[in-house]
Amino acid sequence: MTRAGTGHQYWSPFGPEKQERTKELGKAVYQALYEPPIDEGPVRTLDLPVAGKGYNALPFVFDLVNQVNRVSVPDGKRKSEPGLPDETDGAETIKYLESTSKLVERITGDTPGSFGLHPVVYFYSRTGAFQPSAFFAASRFIEMIIFGGKVREYLAARAPFELFLLNHKEHVSLTVHKFGAGERSVPQLVLYFQTVMAKFQNGKSDADILAKFAEDPNFQYLLPAKPPLLRGSSEDSEKKTGFNRGTKSATFIGAAIAGAPKCGLCGAMVHKNSMHIDHKQRVREGGGNEFTNAQITHPICDSMKN
Ligand SMILES: [Zn+2]
Repeated sequence: MTRAGTGHQYWSPFGPEKQERTKELGKAVYQALYEPPIDEGPVRTLDLPVAGKGYNALPFVFDLVNQVNRVSVPDGKRKSEPGLPDETDGAETIKYLESTSKLVERITGDTPGSFGLHPVVYFYSRTGAFQPSAFFAASRFIEMIIFGGKVREYLAARAPFELFLLNHKEHVSLTVHKFGAGERSVPQLVLYFQTVMAKFQNGKSDADILAKFAEDPNFQYLLPAKPPLLRGSSEDSEKKTGFNRGTKSATFIGAAIAGAPKCGLCGAMVHKNSMHIDHKQRVREGGGNEFTNAQITHPICDSMKN
């Protein structure tokens, strides 16, 4: 996590070993969030980087460090400045970066505990825009699942839960619209994820959940459930210029999702960065290495397989 572009390395007073560790952690977090990079223009791949294009990578990563470490940012400091303590030896910075890196490893990547959250499901709008609030909310939601010891329950309902998120992308956009960008929408989005998840865990359907939103005062703003927040092409200028970037992205994403690789164990979408190839029948139980005994899984599903 260098202060990219400024040439300033805030760990410079630290000893060489700690400098090295800080760089290493920062690099790992950055790569996990921004690889593979994407080009300009409409979205044409589902292999999107977890945290968008990285225009605002630095403030975003600082916000993430703050969220993970529950650092309260002192008044008067820019919101994106890290609330990291003034220190000379670097130990605190490393501690903060380590907990951030640990959370990022649970969200994405291919280490065994990784949930491999698909960015298209959790972090991007229907029109292909990265939504920081959704990223912070989903990571907090996953943290709560882990600390609550509810991983198996989550995995059991993951496929219908994620399908609901995909089918109702406008809910996240409406929440951000009502509660505000960044941190302000996070508690409500966490409540939204938890409410939807609980319903699927109780065997409810999409229609049941929408009916619940219709009568719950906490979710009135989602109603009437609007079609995707896509700008119509009724304006003259748009008629002339054709489909805008968001509409093109939404069209690609909608078409690509159907054919996206799914986890052989939970049935939910698998992202390029978080893909395991698993033996359907374990080697120790006589399973071979032939193609027919292989399946794509999330790292977490693979590691929690009974
Ligand atoms: Zn899975």
